[in-house]
Amino acid sequence: MKMVTIRACSIWRALEVVGDVPVLLLMERAFLGTNTFEAFVEETGVPRSVVSDRLKKLVVEDCLVKNPEPKGRRSFYRLTDKGRALFPVALAMLGWQHRWESGERGFTVQLVHKTCEHVAEPRATCKSCTGEIDPRDVGWKAGPGLAQVIPVYSTRRRPSKAVTARRDKATLVDTVIGLYGDRWSTLIVRAMFSGFHRFDQIQTDTQMAPNILSGRITELIDKGILHATQYCDLPPRYEYRLTEKGRALYPVILSLLQWGDRYYADEKGPPLLLSHRPCQSALEMVMACDHCGEPLKLDEVTYKTV
Ligand SMILES: [Zn+2]
Ligand SMILES: [Zn+2]
Repeated sequence: MKMVTIRACSIWRALEVVGDVPVLLLMERAFLGTNTFEAFVEETGVPRSVVSDRLKKLVVEDCLVKNPEPKGRRSFYRLTDKGRALFPVALAMLGWQHRWESGERGFTVQLVHKTCEHVAEPRATCKSCTGEIDPRDVGWKAGPGLAQVIPVYSTRRRPSKAVTARRDKATLVDTVIGLYGDRWSTLIVRAMFSGFHRFDQIQTDTQMAPNILSGRITELIDKGILHATQYCDLPPRYEYRLTEKGRALYPVILSLLQWGDRYYADEKGPPLLLSHRPCQSALEMVMACDHCGEPLKLDEVTYKTV
């Protein structure tokens, strides 16, 4: 039997850890300061068994550490350095959510940058030239660590609507969690940023079953992430492109890639080499404050609900 493989960029590796709705909800709460099992259950609305399973997974993956309280029966969870390094992913998601879906929930969490004392919107900037990153200005080529993997799509079911609908607390991100919690949708978005636009190209790149692929494409079109253009009349065939809203997901993809590179790249080096054309540097993205331009760090922000 022929083994089917897909490109194993660091996004793929990152998604093996965080490409899951309950995991993203838990990490979001952890960034907001939640640290006990009961609080995670109450604030996410995720069933206890799932919270328990995912917290264990995050401990195994070294994103959280469980510290038994010296006295008493409760345990506390704290973010490790690796867990904290996911903060730019949360910021990229927050920036996208604010720009494209603000007001849909009737309230918004605002980020306050303690350093400059202003309400901040996260901006994806190039570390080298500090310019805002536009995906069309980014060049990429295969790096030394590019490998093919056999995609193992877990049988993890997609979470029911109830999982997210039950949440009534202020949340950083919402739609975007649904999107990135589904690894298939993310791989389709990755295919777009890699220049694959036709059904058979995307299918080859992701190795998704055609019926699942067409289902996810329809969902992404409904969410305004993709649009279809017909390139052949008989038989009718379509190309898929990111809308402006879809292109704006680039910082999320890039922050996942950087996190995956940092923690999962093998000794050969990163699988993908990115460059920022305006400054000709190897691209390193920084999520920065739109007011003062300084990088937004976990310990230097607070939140307020409006
Ligand atoms: Zn640059
Ligand atoms: Zn600032």
